[in-house]
Amino acid sequence: MTERTGCMVAIDGPAGAGKSTIARTVADRCGYTYIDTGAMYRAVALHVMRTGLDVEADADAIGELAGRLRFEFRAVGDEQHLFVDGEDVERAIRTPEVGNLSSPVSAIPEVREHLVAAQRTMAERVPVVMEGRDIGTVVFPDALLKVFLTASAEERARRRYEQRIAQGEDADYERILADQRERDRRDSTRAVAPLRKADDAVEIDTDPLSIEQVADRVLELLDDRALARLEGRDGPAV
Ligand code: C5P
Repeated sequence: MTERTGCMVAIDGPAGAGKSTIARTVADRCGYTYIDTGAMYRAVALHVMRTGLDVEADADAIGELAGRLRFEFRAVGDEQHLFVDGEDVERAIRTPEVGNLSSPVSAIPEVREHLVAAQRTMAERVPVVMEGRDIGTVVFPDALLKVFLTASAEERARRRYEQRIAQGEDADYERILADQRERDRRDSTRAVAPLRKADDAVEIDTDPLSIEQVADRVLELLDDRALARLEGRDGPAV
């Protein structure tokens, strides 16, 4: 097989649709690098909190801050952690407060410019599976395969709730559901790069499917697309 680089699979969708688990599984099975772009927006939000900047009043300063941060994904045991300026921020970015703040922070156009540039650079040398909200529409509109994962709001909140409980954290289902709804509303209605399915993305409703089933479906689609590209024809109608 020839050496590949670039975005092999772009996975987008709302909060809690299973993007991270699926993207990680597909990347593992293909030997590709997994990139969680949400972690990068969360990291900017973490730095906004630490520096005491105000998301409304200090948008310019937050844009500059995003341009100064150096992002790097590194393997830690069998996990992948985000390092920012050499600091492992993986734990700090997973709090509900950082999650909530990441949504208004990610609506600042300069923040997106810097992070999209960093994301494109990450795929220059290796093949990646990248997940987020705008990967198929903005970051890699020519990704080999684009997938848009959905699930009902209740199912997504239930998964997040169980994840937190399994990690030994406090969790309140109603709070998670309300936070996710608010984040989805903001992410879908913002002016720049709103959450939306790319016209040529394959939509998968994950409600009735197991992780394995979704991952199998994505791998099947990827095989079809790779073959179609090799043969110089468009992918199959889906
Ligand atoms: O994926 P995750 O829920 O960790 O992302 C946190 C937030 O970062 C999202 O709610 C969204 O506002 C923002 N985000 C984004 N574009 C991406 C990935 C995440 O705007 N590609």
